[in-house]
Amino acid sequence: MSVALLYDELFLNHRDPVYSHPECPERLIAVQGALMQAQMRDRTSNRASRPATPDEITRVHDVAYFDGVQRDVPGQEGHLDPDTFFSEGSWDAALNAAGGAVDLAVDVLRAEDGLTSGMGLVRPPGHHAEANRAMGFCIFNNIAIAAEAARAAGAKRVAILDWDVHHGNGTQHTFEKRKDVLYLSAHHYPFFPGTGSHREIGRGEGEGYTVNVPLRAGGGDAVFVSAFDQIFCPIIAQYKPDLLLISAGFDAHAQDPLGGMSVSDDGYRVLARKARQVAEQVCGGKIVALLEGGYNVEALGRSIVGLLEELLADDLGDAEQIAPSADPQLGKVMDEIKRTLEPYWNL
Ligand SMILES: [Zn+2]
Repeated sequence: MSVALLYDELFLNHRDPVYSHPECPERLIAVQGALMQAQMRDRTSNRASRPATPDEITRVHDVAYFDGVQRDVPGQEGHLDPDTFFSEGSWDAALNAAGGAVDLAVDVLRAEDGLTSGMGLVRPPGHHAEANRAMGFCIFNNIAIAAEAARAAGAKRVAILDWDVHHGNGTQHTFEKRKDVLYLSAHHYPFFPGTGSHREIGRGEGEGYTVNVPLRAGGGDAVFVSAFDQIFCPIIAQYKPDLLLISAGFDAHAQDPLGGMSVSDDGYRVLARKARQVAEQVCGGKIVALLEGGYNVEALGRSIVGLLEELLADDLGDAEQIAPSADPQLGKVMDEIKRTLEPYWNL
């Protein structure tokens, strides 16, 4: 397996100018330490970032929003919304996060240099950013921009699997009226940002191509495994994307200070393995994961090492098995999701 790691020190220059904020450069510094310890640098190739072009960004964001950010953010400090700070380095970080994600997605899609998959260790994160505004620590929607770039580069269908603990409202809204990009999310619900009910299944042409699995507070490995086994993997297998993108947030981890759920290190490995198994079935294992949330820096480092090990694994045989949830309440939600999606998918 040939796995690329996208990282740039520019991503460290985006920091809350006043307060200590959970979405901080120390997250990536801790990840670098964990990668070093796991000798991951020797097992993966480095990818440089580059600034996204205005065209790449405005496939997802309104020109007026892009122009406003370009006017207000470079070299400045402040807030784009109450949660979303910017500092002197934020403009370059945000542009390079998006541009690096574009290149990684296109290179994996084309199997450039034999590349099979990749992970973008990017900041700021992206999945809450809407077409016309920043939101929830996110300035540009990196994963949506990467999906559009993959489409423009020839992918007929792209699937985005979002396992961040928060619902990716911005990503959903970008693609909810389309069937060429499938969006699937499991998330703590009700919770920030408030969207992500299982009744949100897309609109118009895109009906059936938005798939939400809302999860109650405290849920852990088993509920995510249920969502993957019963809903996500069968749908991805039927959709047959040319590329699987993962909004890889690790804030559903038991040690996360914000997420309110209890996924373990092993749980994330199992989710990564399940994603890889279905990607092997349908698209030659082509996966690009982009970092979203994850605010306990030690747990974040361990979880990312686990994800990379699953992307690198030659043998996808017997992983640690985690039993699906036996919670009757979750069972009811799953049954309702299946009924709602019945016209579109065989579940
Ligand atoms: Zn999150």
